[in-house]
Amino acid sequence: MTTAERTQEQHRHAQPQAEAVIDLDAVADNVRLLREYAGDAAVMAVVKADAYNHGAVPVAKAALAAGARELGVTTLTEALELKSAGIDAPVLSWLHTPDADYAPAIVAGVELGVSSPRHLASIVAAARDSGVTAVITVKVDTGLNRGGVARDEWPGFLRDLGRAHAEGAVRLRGTFSHLAHADELHHPEIDSQRDRLVEAVADLRRHGMPPEVVHLSNSAAAVTRPDLRFDMIRPGIAMYGLSPIPEIGDYGFRPVMTLRTRVALVKKVTAGSGVSYGHRWIAPIDTTVAVLPMGYADGIRRNLSGRFEVQLGGRRRPQLGRVCMDQIVVDLGPDGGGVSEGDHALFFGDGRHGEPNAQDWADLLDTINYEVVTGVGGRTVRTYVGGEGGGTE
Ligand SMILES: *Cc1c(COP(=O)(O)O)cnc(C)c1O
Repeated sequence: MTTAERTQEQHRHAQPQAEAVIDLDAVADNVRLLREYAGDAAVMAVVKADAYNHGAVPVAKAALAAGARELGVTTLTEALELKSAGIDAPVLSWLHTPDADYAPAIVAGVELGVSSPRHLASIVAAARDSGVTAVITVKVDTGLNRGGVARDEWPGFLRDLGRAHAEGAVRLRGTFSHLAHADELHHPEIDSQRDRLVEAVADLRRHGMPPEVVHLSNSAAAVTRPDLRFDMIRPGIAMYGLSPIPEIGDYGFRPVMTLRTRVALVKKVTAGSGVSYGHRWIAPIDTTVAVLPMGYADGIRRNLSGRFEVQLGGRRRPQLGRVCMDQIVVDLGPDGGGVSEGDHALFFGDGRHGEPNAQDWADLLDTINYEVVTGVGGRTVRTYVGGEGGGTE
C-alpha cells in the first residue's frame, strides 16, 4: 500500500458518523457575490456563533481571502479566538455586559461595539489600566430596540464619548446600527432607521468625532437596498449560502454546509411490523430499512419525526416513525435500493446530489434557515473541503 492509499484508507475509517461538511469554496463564491452587491463598500463577514456553526476560524480565513475586509462577532471570546488564530483584519465585537473583561480585547486590538454610557465607562477604565487606546464602534439603536445606545441616553453618551476621546482612552472607528425589517421589502421603518443613523453620524461629526466607517446592512439589506450600503455591508447568512429572503429567492448564493451521516445497519422488516419508539410507522409491505446514526442529540429535531426524507442511494428515502436521540430509520423499499452499510446519507446541503436544503428543513420546522444550521450539534464533526489553494480570483 502506498502512503497515499494508506492515508486514504485511514481517512475512510476516520469518516465521522455525524458530519457537517463545510465547503470553503462556496464561502469564497458567496463572499465574491456579496462584494458585487456591496459595490464600492467593504464587506464585513459576520462570523458570530462560530460562523453560524460553520467554524469561525476557517470561515473567517476563507472570507478574508475572497475579499471580505473585516470580521464581525458577538462576544469578546469569539473575537479573541480570531485574533489568536493570527487573523489581523479588523474584528468588531458588539454584545457585552458592562462588567466584561475588556482589557485583553483592547490589548489585542479588538474593536469594541459600545451600546451605553455604562459600557463606555467600563471600556475607558480598562483602556486606562492597560495603557492602550480602545478602538470603539458606537452602536446606535435606530429603532430595533435591542442593542445600541438608546435615544434617551444619546446626549449623555455623546458627552462621555467626547471626554474619553479627548483623553485618548478611546478612538472612534465606526458607527453602526441593525435593522428590524430588513427582510420586508419597502417597509417604511427601514428608511426611518437609516435617517436616525445619518442623524447620529452628524451628531458625532458635530462633536469632532467623525466615524471612519458607517454600516447598517445585514444580508437582506445588502441584496435589496444598495442605497443603504454606507461604507460597509455586514452580511452573515448569505455568506453561508442561505437566502436572507427565501420567499423571494436564493439571490445566487450557494449553501456551504452539507449535513450527512453513514448507514449503520441495513435490515429487513416484515409487513405489519412497527418501526422505532411507539411503532408510529407500520410497514405496509415487506421492506428493507436503514438505520442512520444521527438523532435529536445531533440536531435532527424530534418534531421532524416521519416528516422528512434523506438522500441515500441516489434517491430520497422517507424517514420512518420517531426520531430518536441517536438514530433514525429510513425506508429503502422491498429491494433495498442497492444501499449498503457505510453509504453516505444526506440530510441537507446544496442540492447537488439531490438532497434537500436547509431552507426545506426551515419550512418543515416553521423556523428560519439560520436556526437549522446553528442547531446542528451533539456529536457532529465538521470537515472542510475547498479553501486553501482551491479556486483563485
Ligand atoms: C447577525 C448580525 C448580522 C448578520 O445578519 P444576517 O441576517 O445573517 O446577514 C449583521 N449585523 C448584526 C448586528 C448582527 O447581529
